[in-house]
Amino acid sequence: MRKKLLDILACPIDKYYPLELIEFSVKDDVIVDGVLICNKCNRYYPIIDEIPEMLPDELRTKERELDFLNRWKEKLPEKVIYEGKPFNLKV
Ligand SMILES: [Zn+2]
Repeated sequence: MRKKLLDILACPIDKYYPLELIEFSVKDDVIVDGVLICNKCNRYYPIIDEIPEMLPDELRTKERELDFLNRWKEKLPEKVIYEGKPFNLKV
């Protein structure tokens, strides 16, 4: 996604705005991998292959989200890894 999109994205659950962006990899000014974080409800929204996945909880799959968290563990803030919604790595 392009960074500019951040200007219009809000959390789909509580409409909180703006979302916090953490970039993992960027190519030609396009964010390829990253995460969007809602600092109101502590939900995170993965950016995978340039696409921000802004889905409500019931359409998200635990396995996919945990794969994402594990893959980017080094770059994600602890609040997402251990307290992020709807799924996190807290045992
Ligand atoms: Zn939210």
